[in-house]
Amino acid sequence: MIPSILPTYNRAPLSFVRGEGSWLIAEGGGRYLDLGAGIAVNALGHANPDLVAALTEQAGKLWHVSNLYQIPEQQRLADLLVTHTFADTVFFTNSGTEAAELAIKMARKYWSEKGAGDRIEILTFEGAFHGRSTGAIAAAGSEKMVKGYGPLMPGFRQLPWGDMAALKAAISDATAAVMVEPIQGEGGIRPLSDEDLRTIRALCDETGALLILDEVQCGVARTGRLFAHEWADVTPDIMMVAKGIGGGFPLGAVLATEMAAAGMVAGTHGSTYGGNPLACAVGTKVMEIVTDPAFLAEVNRKASLLRQKLEGLVATHPGIFEGVRGQGLMLGLKCRIAPADLVRAGYGEHVLTVPAADDTLRLLPPLTITDDEIAEAVRRLDAAAATLQPATADSTA
Ligand SMILES: *Cc1c(COP(=O)(O)O)cnc(C)c1O
Repeated sequence: MIPSILPTYNRAPLSFVRGEGSWLIAEGGGRYLDLGAGIAVNALGHANPDLVAALTEQAGKLWHVSNLYQIPEQQRLADLLVTHTFADTVFFTNSGTEAAELAIKMARKYWSEKGAGDRIEILTFEGAFHGRSTGAIAAAGSEKMVKGYGPLMPGFRQLPWGDMAALKAAISDATAAVMVEPIQGEGGIRPLSDEDLRTIRALCDETGALLILDEVQCGVARTGRLFAHEWADVTPDIMMVAKGIGGGFPLGAVLATEMAAAGMVAGTHGSTYGGNPLACAVGTKVMEIVTDPAFLAEVNRKASLLRQKLEGLVATHPGIFEGVRGQGLMLGLKCRIAPADLVRAGYGEHVLTVPAADDTLRLLPPLTITDDEIAEAVRRLDAAAATLQPATADSTA
């Protein structure tokens, strides 16, 4: 008999009743160090007092009004995002997937407005993840995500990850846009080099194609800059944001330049919940905290500490781990064994991690994690690794 919850997840036999900063407290009282943070969502930790205050204060006043009216909380958050980024304008969504949908629609509208409605091809990369809507799965195109859901939305072509020669060959003045994550999350914490990101920007400039960056996972201070593309000193035309921006409250956004958004006039797009006062009150508090240069400096300092300790962990367990990659507090441990085994061993040591593709274990702790918690996290990962059978020379050859 089908369970009362649609069984699309293989869930761990764990459930939590409370969260405190970097910790989740299970039924029965067990405390788990959370290096997954709801998959980069609880960026400021669980039950962050500033976010609880912002949420409850707004909850006592007004939760929802439709976008038929002015929403001052939404205006404040939009202004903050415009002030701190490349963007001239913002549309709020409830999730990353909805942000992907609008990014795709916006790119198509842009060309349609220019009288080039057949210029629809969006180039994406293998291993990408842009969400689970029919458009977003067509964009990423992985067999696992699209199987059985055809016919797919046309207009996407996946190129080998980070292959600049393939991009040069594929892009032309018929390309509508290039859509890419500066660091692939689900794909296994695979960063584009700064140089590659600059190459992509240059190829878009040469052909007129729009650059859409998906910063749903790597954005909002996760890498130690407000947005990951800042490291490469380039800016996109359109950017998708979600996960960390709500600190745990469902919130997403599409940021765009005035040029890219030119066709998006009244009536061309909408959302019932997008940009509601409750979500925006929380998002505003998140932005106020993460845009503080001192906060970003701390993320970078703690990221170096964690990375250095993880390099030590890799050296201690060469049959389990191959290396560390990523940036800031978006780190991946490339594994020689199945990362799911490490995730499971972590449950025994009360440390929570997230598996990803490309044999990678993801570490996405709250950005507020302390030095002591970082040391404790690596001790627990070490203990978890010690319970597992290292890969033999044969199986890794
Ligand atoms: C999680 C994620 C999405 C989808 O976001 P949802 O909020 O789950 O819809 C899109 N892109 C990237 C890079 C993500 O990590």
